[in-house]
Amino acid sequence: MILLLQENNNPDIQKSIDILENSGHRTYSMQTSNGNIRTVLDISEVDFKKYNIQSGYSFFKTDIPYVLTSKTIKDTGTVIHLSNDVSIGGDTINIIAGPCSIESEIQLTETARFVKKAGASVLRGGAFKPRTSPYAFQGMGIEGLKLLRKAGDQFNMPVITEVLDTDDLPVVSEYSDIVQIGARNCQNFSLLKKAGKIKRPVLLKRGMMVTIQEFLMSAEYILSEGNMNVILCERGIRTFETETRNTLDISAVPLLKQKTHLPVIVDPSHAAGNWKLIQPLSMAALAAGADGLMIECHHDPSAAMSDGGQSLRPDKFNQLMQRLAPMSLVIDKKIG
Ligand code: PEP
Ligand code: MN
Repeated sequence: MILLLQENNNPDIQKSIDILENSGHRTYSMQTSNGNIRTVLDISEVDFKKYNIQSGYSFFKTDIPYVLTSKTIKDTGTVIHLSNDVSIGGDTINIIAGPCSIESEIQLTETARFVKKAGASVLRGGAFKPRTSPYAFQGMGIEGLKLLRKAGDQFNMPVITEVLDTDDLPVVSEYSDIVQIGARNCQNFSLLKKAGKIKRPVLLKRGMMVTIQEFLMSAEYILSEGNMNVILCERGIRTFETETRNTLDISAVPLLKQKTHLPVIVDPSHAAGNWKLIQPLSMAALAAGADGLMIECHHDPSAAMSDGGQSLRPDKFNQLMQRLAPMSLVIDKKIG
């Protein structure tokens, strides 16, 4: 059972919250659009009589299991500030682009150069790769993180990379502006809890077998540990269809936007597994209300060490950005 304190800045109510906090109950507060504070109490058995608190008007129950993630506690969209000129959420669509894996300094620099030039605002690149086969390229590890930071600084782009292991959270947070938790770790609850304690924003990808409700519960694990800066990413789910790598669940976008204040982005690259589908799926994602896209790119996809078949070459990425530009008028958001 979770109890929600009715929105109020009433000093009496604040006194009650202080009493509960001092008795070891965790509380979380967020501001609503009218400036009031709503507080959720992490309590299963608060004995209101014991603390001499009147339950009545101040407290009521909510059945929403992902209350911190939901709009019940925060009715304005969360905007995540990454740098002076890049924020995710709000009225700008961000394009996160870069290679699946960081392979070398030349590859990363070449890719960063062309994605930046075409209008991407955040640079991606995998250093710790979750590969199906243990014999496949596993990523460059810390050396890759260093290359990513260098390229991000060179092209003035915040960077994002995936963490696979809780042990690597400190080093990934040191080098990366956003920490990505991949589809395969979407329900790795110990990793989620630890990611809730870091100071960096977290991009959480939807697991391929994870329902929307479960996805929101996974986000709640991060928020409940104190990290409110979470970006959700729809990247396709497993279905019976074999023409695509996964099936992009486009309805997840408006559903998530209705249920949560967190920004929602779409990764059409891992959804489709095919570069030819990236443009239409990207347009559909923006039309459905996504706050951004994550696109895999490579200066020479035929030589890529992972996911070359779904990576865009420089000319195709340029073309994509040109096709997306006029959508700005329809969705009333700035792109890039
Ligand atoms: C990735 O973005 O590099 C990745 C592995 O994606 P996903 O976790 O969605 O499969
Ligand atoms: Mn990939």
